[in-house]
Amino acid sequence: MPMQPPTTQESASSPTSAPICPFCGRERSWVTLGQYGFWAPCDCPDAQAHDKAQKAEEERAKAAELEEARLRRYRRAGIPERWHSELGNPYDPGALSICAAAVQGKGTWLIGKVGLGKTRAVMGAAMAYVDRGSRSAGEGMSRITVEGAKVSCITEEDILSAAGSAYGKKDAFDAYLDEIRKLDLLVIDDLGKAKPTPWAVQKIFAVIDCRYSAKKPLIVTSQYGPSDLIARLSQEGEDQSARALVSRLCAMCDRKRLQGHDHRLAGDAHVAGN
Ligand SMILES: [Zn+2]
Repeated sequence: MPMQPPTTQESASSPTSAPICPFCGRERSWVTLGQYGFWAPCDCPDAQAHDKAQKAEEERAKAAELEEARLRRYRRAGIPERWHSELGNPYDPGALSICAAAVQGKGTWLIGKVGLGKTRAVMGAAMAYVDRGSRSAGEGMSRITVEGAKVSCITEEDILSAAGSAYGKKDAFDAYLDEIRKLDLLVIDDLGKAKPTPWAVQKIFAVIDCRYSAKKPLIVTSQYGPSDLIARLSQEGEDQSARALVSRLCAMCDRKRLQGHDHRLAGDAHVAGN
């Protein structure tokens, strides 16, 4: 017979009778730990196996919950579904270096032809940024520790559709720019893809300019380097905005060029005069 347990919430309802182990039929014993007391789990093999299975189930549920929270963060950041499982931990070193630069406030302009993995690299960077503080990412200097990152991954189409739906509504596009300004990190994928009408170039410039004036990091991918992008955006006559936009990008971003088929990041040396 176990010692009479002290009055606690757990023992109050049945202070004198010990619970019976459903596996072996023995009474469980009362254990005190400082001012707390509890019924010790039975040490028979079946009870232990049951406890072990229950703990494993709890771990599984916790892992599933963490995974669901991770996917929610990615969805909220506008990171396309296809990357969610493909680019998870461990992050690609190229993606991590882009993320680490962004954490320092420095943007990246990733230049390369279609199919070289530009989007892959920046989405990996965005995911690493989003996950900051939620779990460890990287090693040593690139280990990320700050919490609560607000990240948005968009395309020119998103900007133009926001501008379109703001049309005729006073301050609506300004409100959109306010949201853009508040983000910890903005990613624009495939800059220069949209038809460069003067209206479109002005709206895209406005988004880049608000990141520039807020001194907040911006990551862009583009098929075009600086002079090609000016040429592309000037096609329909919006020369001044095109130049101002590219000048902002050059000031805010380290240019990196993707070449070949191996997805490795090269430095800016190849970009000069482009
Ligand atoms: Zn038992």
